[in-house]
Amino acid sequence: LVLEEVPAVGYGDIGGLGEQIELIRDAVELPFLHPDLYREHRLTPPRGVLLYGPPGCGKTLIAKAVAASLGAGGRGEAYFLNIKGPQLLDKYVGETERRIRVIFARAREKAATGVPVVVFFDEMDSLFRTRGSGRSSDVETTVVPQMLAEIDGVDELDNVVVIGATNREDMIDPAILRPGRLDVKIRINRPDAAAAQEILARHLTANLPLDPAELAAHRGDREATAASLRRVVVEALYARNEATAVLEITEAHTVSGASTRVLHLADLTSGAMLAAIVSRAKTASIKDELAGGAGGLSAARLRSAVKTEARQNEEITGATTPEGWARLLGTRTSQILSVRRLGKEST
Ligand code: ADP
Repeated sequence: LVLEEVPAVGYGDIGGLGEQIELIRDAVELPFLHPDLYREHRLTPPRGVLLYGPPGCGKTLIAKAVAASLGAGGRGEAYFLNIKGPQLLDKYVGETERRIRVIFARAREKAATGVPVVVFFDEMDSLFRTRGSGRSSDVETTVVPQMLAEIDGVDELDNVVVIGATNREDMIDPAILRPGRLDVKIRINRPDAAAAQEILARHLTANLPLDPAELAAHRGDREATAASLRRVVVEALYARNEATAVLEITEAHTVSGASTRVLHLADLTSGAMLAAIVSRAKTASIKDELAGGAGGLSAARLRSAVKTEARQNEEITGATTPEGWARLLGTRTSQILSVRRLGKEST
């Protein structure tokens, strides 16, 4: 169980998710900041929000920004409880339920002191397997009811907000989404090219060391140079060619049999991937400087980082089980017949 104080993430640090941020602010912040208006309108605020979508696209960032913003609306303090669903599961009978009780007791204790608390459950599907799916009998019979009871108990305290995150919303027990529970569902998608520009604007900024040649080409204008470098990343990443082809998947379809498609980086981009590309280019810049070069972020370093990302993306190379692929691709396990890695290092 991790207890963090006010996280240092603001809505301004999040790119390309303006609409989603507005939805969550309306659902969570408005009732928190204006409880009297809600009482007057007899509008019951939601007890929580479910953020769903592929990994690395900003769900945790948003939850942290909500906590920080609730804190800023009050005394400046807020608590963010970050709970990884699978880490809560324990094979010993009753242990998972005990941990869930401890977490909510802790949240109540903190909230009772007047500090807003965000309880964030990452990979929530691991705790909420649809009942009857036969995957894990303990989760179905005792963990789900325990979680529901805790969430239902939250309304005694206005200071606790539950935010769940998952990339397998089809696995989540519908009981959790009923009114008065996590009844606001917000989809967090992979970024398209425009959103990628906005995300890069948070990671590749004009105040970073920039390659002198690139700067000179833009007459020393740092903003223009950074913007042009961001465009280079987006163009390289969203191109569909051999260099960006990563996976070939064969899927089963009920009506049309099976089909094969090639996935490119563009189909698998995430904020995390964009951040990783910029980090790789920064490392290259540092190494160049240490070797006596001029260093700085450059188009060449960013393009090379995109290429490396195509071969070494953690999310892609980390998926090895059918379950892992289904998570990555956002489909059901039963639909995937085979997955083949493309590129130099494919086996
Ligand atoms: P998720 O919870 O959806 O798996 P995170 O919020 O943990 O993803 O994102 C992981 C990292 O990727 C962040 O710490 C950040 O560096 C980067 N990132 C992801 N999405 C965005 C975004 N929309 N804007 C800026 N950075 C992002």
